[in-house]
Formats: sequence, structure tokens, C-alpha cells
Amino acid sequence: GPVLDTAFFRRWLAAMAAAVERAADRLTELDSAIGDADHGSNLQRGFRAVTTALEKDVPAAPGAVLTLAGRQLISTVGGASGPLYGTLLRRAGKALGDAAEVTPAELAEALRAGVAGVAQLGGAKTGDKTMLDALEPAAEALGTSFAAAAEAAERGALATVPLLARKGRASYLGERSIGHQDPGATSSALLITTLAATAEE
Ligand code: ADP
Ligand code: MG
Ligand code: MG
Repeated sequence: GPVLDTAFFRRWLAAMAAAVERAADRLTELDSAIGDADHGSNLQRGFRAVTTALEKDVPAAPGAVLTLAGRQLISTVGGASGPLYGTLLRRAGKALGDAAEVTPAELAEALRAGVAGVAQLGGAKTGDKTMLDALEPAAEALGTSFAAAAEAAERGALATVPLLARKGRASYLGERSIGHQDPGATSSALLITTLAATAEE
């Protein structure tokens, strides 16, 4: 399998930043249906800041890459998704500690810690039509393989379509949130598919 060292984590986040650039319009369009039409631009701002920070400062370990990225997302993204993604990455980074290389099992465990942090901060659970619907099954499936995690995340994002939103702005719409894919679950699927793609390089 791939070597999960500092360079790997930097490649993953660079791939995510590029994916956000490509998907920004679509994410904002999804957010215009059940939110305030800023999810794409929020993540663009956030991941551009992540890219800049990782170019300036070369963290010494995988955990430090994730915590640096998480800090950037928290400080640059005004919307709900900034602190939530920031918490995901900071918690995951903290769980990795200062190891120079991590195993897939350690990464899976760290991602589960990050997901628990998101649930704690946002008060949502799986099925509430949020990013957790993609992240939670992905973190579980990562124990099996990167490809299984990517598949679980994409399936989880698609499965938000028929759900009623119970957290975040979309919940203000009540029944009218039904029939639309959650923007945050969609960007979360990107985060995991870019992880899997980086692992396959
Ligand atoms: P905002 O809603 O502040 O404009 P964004 O548009 O960037 O922020 O992000 C919206 C996404 O954030 C939603 O699609 C959802 O996935 C996620 N989200 C919102 N509130 C929560 C929450 N309490 N728990 C988990 N995810 C949430
Ligand atoms: Mg929004
Ligand atoms: Mg907003």
C-alpha cells in the first residue's frame, strides 16, 4: 500500500484544494437550493488558505499537516462548514500525534476521532442530512480500504437526497429540504475520494 508520510498528506490536501476549485460552482448551486449559496466559495477560500499555508510552512509530520489545515479552515471560512471541517482535520491530526508515517488503520482511527469531533461540535448524527452522512460511513469503511471509503462517502452523499435536514441552514426549510443533495455531504465525499485517489497514485 501507499506510504502515509507527510508528503502523502500534503498531496492529499493539494488534491482536495484542486477538487474544490473544480466543484465550487456545483457546491454553491447545491447550497442555493437548501442554503445560502456560498458552500463552494466558502471552501474555495478555505482550501486556498490551506494551500498557501502548506507552501509557506512545511509541517514535520502527517498530524501537523492536518492540524495546520484545520486551523486555516477555522480562521478563513465564515460559514458553518469552516469550524466543522476544521474540527475534523484538527482532531484527526491530533490523533495521529507526531508520527512521521502512519498506517491505514491509524488513519482510519484518526478520521473516526475527527468525525466524533464534528458530531460533538454540530450536534448532528448520521441521517440528519449533513456532512456526517458521507464522513461517518467513510471513516468506518476506511478500516477496509481507501476504495471502500470513497465508495461509502459517495453513497452517503447521494443518500442525503431524500432526507429531511435536521441541522444547519437547510433545516430551516423543513420538508422543502427533501429532494436535494446536501452540499456539505457532497464536499465531504470529495475529501474522501481525493484521499483514495492520492493513495492509488
Ligand atoms: P453555511 O450553512 O453557514 O452557509 P456552508 O454553506 O459552507 O455553511 O456549509 C453548509 C454545510 O455544512 C451543510 O450542507 C452541512 O453539510 C454542513 N452543516 C451545517 N450544519 C451542520 C451541523 N450542525 N453538523 C454537521 N454538518 C453541518
Ligand atoms: Mg451556505
Ligand atoms: Mg453561509
